[in-house]
Amino acid sequence: MTQATLNSTRTTAAKGLACKECGAEYELKATHICELCFGPLEVQYDYDYLRTKVTRESIKAGPHSIWRYKDLLPVPDEHIVDVGTGMTPLLKANRLARRLGLKNLYIKNDAVNMPTLSFKDRVVSVALSKAKEFGFSTISCASTGNLANSTAAIAAHAGLDCCVFIPADLEAGKVLGTVIYGPTVMAVQGNYDQVNRLCCEVANTYGWGFVNINLRPYYSEGSKTLGYEVAEQLGWQLPDHIVAPLASGSLFTKIHKGFQEFVKVGLVEDKPVRFSGAQAEGCSPIAQAYAEGRDFVTPVKPNTIAKSIAIGNPADGIYALELARKTNGNIESVTDEEIIEGMKLLAETEGIFTETAGGTTIAVLKKLVEAGKINPDETTVVYITGNGLKTQESVQGYVGEPFTIEAKLDSFERALERSQTLDRLDWQQVLV
Ligand SMILES: *Cc1c(COP(=O)(O)O)cnc(C)c1O
Ligand SMILES: [Zn+2]
Repeated sequence: MTQATLNSTRTTAAKGLACKECGAEYELKATHICELCFGPLEVQYDYDYLRTKVTRESIKAGPHSIWRYKDLLPVPDEHIVDVGTGMTPLLKANRLARRLGLKNLYIKNDAVNMPTLSFKDRVVSVALSKAKEFGFSTISCASTGNLANSTAAIAAHAGLDCCVFIPADLEAGKVLGTVIYGPTVMAVQGNYDQVNRLCCEVANTYGWGFVNINLRPYYSEGSKTLGYEVAEQLGWQLPDHIVAPLASGSLFTKIHKGFQEFVKVGLVEDKPVRFSGAQAEGCSPIAQAYAEGRDFVTPVKPNTIAKSIAIGNPADGIYALELARKTNGNIESVTDEEIIEGMKLLAETEGIFTETAGGTTIAVLKKLVEAGKINPDETTVVYITGNGLKTQESVQGYVGEPFTIEAKLDSFERALERSQTLDRLDWQQVLV
């Protein structure tokens, strides 16, 4: 085919799906597992074609959302659902950096991603665009909370029917933040891994589009935009080191795919980037495999306040493990107490209220710095993936309270004095 006919007939650069294990190729359809070896399927692109099509200028001319990278995503223009997802701030975190002893620290802040304040809006935007193209009328997912929020919200915007599955013990903010959009919500008595197993059965019986099951290859492509945006926001450069949370491990590996694609297409220069992953000790199957030098992940039963990343049997666990090792990164876990301290540290130094997953990531960052596993000069990007207003119960009792006063100046002055005494006491504790 000549270049001209290629350009005029092609609607996206996505060529097909390929098995990550055996390389078997499949058409772009609603399927996620290799029929030959049960390996996961991933979208393949024509990078020669993309090199002729995508430039820094063409990206900058696009919308202020993940769809500025539409050429690198598997959705034709006419099916794109753009709810303003993506292009979240990349902040230079000077006060947190100084506290930790780092010099070049950045926060990628998906706590303010649109429309539902977590990174999941990226993956769902791509999955539902593809679901519309495939003609699904009912959309579903197995969720640890944030995915249900995103799926319900974006399905509402796209006019699709929605039925989502969550573990019954989720935080109130995550449940309300799903129910408000009017989907059918199934609160399953069990943990996420049990919810997921049920959903696999439902997916086989009902003709629904499950964003993280039969639409998973498209869903996971959405996470690449977390790599693209950071590279663009750093002035078309890759960082030296990234730290990100691990649930299934998908987000982590797709940030890497995003960086690699920018190199392949000629948008940034290649350089080594270290990949470090964060888990909660109460659900740390990947961190345990890493610590023990294993190349397989043993499933665990989750028990942690970091519910949004509590996946005991992570689908992309071995790929995350491989990536951390190959890039000279690390995988670390932290306790629930450290997670709460991490949430408070980020709030007090940078003015960002993150949820438990973000607390996990900040606590792991701190642990890695203290262990000398992050060089102070490295340009380090920490991914904050969710918003603290959704997991309020996790910090209840661990933060200060307001002074209740009368509407009188002397009442205010007495309270102010009390607050200053409390501050002094705090300092004395620090000095002891
Ligand atoms: C889902 C989720 C993650 C991790 O997702 P994976 O791609 O499954 O590893 C991280 N942070 C938050 C807040 C999430 O909701
Ligand atoms: Zn295969």
